[in-house]
Amino acid sequence: MSIESILQEVFGYPSFRGPQHDIIRHVVAGGDALVLMPTGGGKSLCYQIPAIARQRAGQGITVVVSPLIALMHDQVGALHEAGVSAAFLNSTLNSEEAYQTEQRLLRGEITLLYAAPERVTTARFLAQLDALHERGQLSLFAIDEAHCVSQWGHDFRPEYRALTVLHERYAGVPRMALTATADALTRADIVERLQLEAAGQFVSSFDRPNIRYTIVEKKDASTQLLRFIEREHAGEAGVVYCQSRKRVEEIADMLAQAGIHALPYHAGLDFKVRQANQNEFLRGEGVVMVATIAFGMGIDKPDVRFVAHLDMPKNIEGYYQETGRAGRDGMAADAWMCYGLQDVVNQRRMIDESPAEEDFKQVMRGKLDALLGLAEATDCRRVRLLRYFGEESTDCHNCDNCLQPPDVWDATDAARKLLSTVYRLHQTSGVSFGAGHTMDIVRGKLTDKVTQRGHQSVSTFGLGADYTEAQLRAVMRQLIAIGALHVHNNEGFSTLHLTADSRPVLRGEVPVRLRQSSSQRPDKRSRNRTALAPAAASLGQDAMVRFINLKSWRAEVAKAHNLPAYVIFHDATLAAIAERSPQSLADLQHISGLGTRKLEAYGEAVLAVIMGESHTVSAE
Ligand code: ADP
Ligand code: ZN
Repeated sequence: MSIESILQEVFGYPSFRGPQHDIIRHVVAGGDALVLMPTGGGKSLCYQIPAIARQRAGQGITVVVSPLIALMHDQVGALHEAGVSAAFLNSTLNSEEAYQTEQRLLRGEITLLYAAPERVTTARFLAQLDALHERGQLSLFAIDEAHCVSQWGHDFRPEYRALTVLHERYAGVPRMALTATADALTRADIVERLQLEAAGQFVSSFDRPNIRYTIVEKKDASTQLLRFIEREHAGEAGVVYCQSRKRVEEIADMLAQAGIHALPYHAGLDFKVRQANQNEFLRGEGVVMVATIAFGMGIDKPDVRFVAHLDMPKNIEGYYQETGRAGRDGMAADAWMCYGLQDVVNQRRMIDESPAEEDFKQVMRGKLDALLGLAEATDCRRVRLLRYFGEESTDCHNCDNCLQPPDVWDATDAARKLLSTVYRLHQTSGVSFGAGHTMDIVRGKLTDKVTQRGHQSVSTFGLGADYTEAQLRAVMRQLIAIGALHVHNNEGFSTLHLTADSRPVLRGEVPVRLRQSSSQRPDKRSRNRTALAPAAASLGQDAMVRFINLKSWRAEVAKAHNLPAYVIFHDATLAAIAERSPQSLADLQHISGLGTRKLEAYGEAVLAVIMGESHTVSAE
């Protein structure tokens, strides 16, 4: 059976996307592969189709290594729905269940087996693989989330390092490593650590054109977030990322009080609560998950309409991975971040205070700088993001800066006044001060602290009286971002210090250009969703009624099967059915997302819903 017919019959898709075809051909033929594809690009098919093809050719099972234990149940459920024999082995199974699965594995009844890396490398599991290997029944290893092998990635998991055993023990068995994010350094590390020097490298474009990037200046973050959700995403599913557990709780409460169906998720919550909240997010409609970065890897919910960052991530990889969880279904989605001076200070401090080696810290600082550059940018955000991943592009017309080019002001003078105040303060008093006090002096404010210390006599006092505090704050942020000011943290006090890069700015040799604070400008951006409207937006009235009926039918099926609704059918598939209004099984042919098995299992029921007949759902 050809890989084209597997795509059509098993998954119900008419054609391959991007480089899927090349990758699948390469792996089916026994090649190793490194696959870099953005989130939502369609990585799963890249190993699922080879697994099916090779199994049908008598080559045995595929082992999928994944760190995402909590999601294996749904992933395997989705394959079952498509009629593919799959199973998982992880710590959620009791010993009897695990034993049964192992037996099925040894009997060759499984096409894809999902397992966590720590399980794969146990002596017990390797012995089972040995047995399969001896019989020529070990077909392929797919190592998902492969960036976990690298400490340069954003989610290093030491267990991944032990996976070299697969190569050493089963040299002839093809391996593929897949990840949605890797800069050049991480990529090289994956190749080295997983010994993929001879593998084919398949790097897709990292662009996610349906995601709109927006970065706003932080003022009152919770209010800004609430307004963003209410104005642009009322009733829609989204993820809000916060730095700390405490903040997750606060923001989830705040949103819930405002009437939004918001739930918290962080590693400090009881496992059961976490699991329940994740299930609610996956299975419910329009749930907003407020979370630390502990949440999200492998979440393949296709209709997440926004990802919001209330605090700045550590680097662009993290930002891109997290924002990538929006809009996997290809429809319009938002990546929204609000960011302020404190974020810069906090992230720098976290690096400074970490116990890591200095050269490691240097790499981390470089990565943080790249993200700061993105946040401060006045040109196309997407061009910068893609360039970071080694891809050149042109203005995207779907980011805040493209849609509404920011007004820029020349902040060189303000920057010089701030820096020279830092310099003079240190000179006159021998100690350093923080951002607030420094700005007060520049603006000529006679605060208690100023008068007590006699700082009104500093020669720069009041020289920047024309600047607002918000403006000076922005200048300060930019100076820290470009490394012309250093924030030193000592027992809870942050003080400002000049650096080697301060001098050219002080001399006026480096111009400082800043975006005009966004609050000073009217919001001109319009929501133009017609091009990428959500699945059902273009349906007429009758079709809309059918779509709604199909959705409620789907909800019952999903519940009976204990799976998220999108595993049964995507919205887009239901919308296509509603549009076509099929009168017979033949009319259901060739609807995207409707493979042979689903047609058999659900065809009649779907027709009944379309004809307005009552329906019952069995739990089979
Ligand atoms: P990734 O793992 O790369 O984030 P997935 O494998 O979850 O992406 O795929 C994202 C979505 O795209 C899924 O809903 C999947 O069913 C769909 N998809 C993948 N390949 C195709 C294709 N060739 N045609 C249509 N839809 C596809
Ligand atoms: Zn742009």
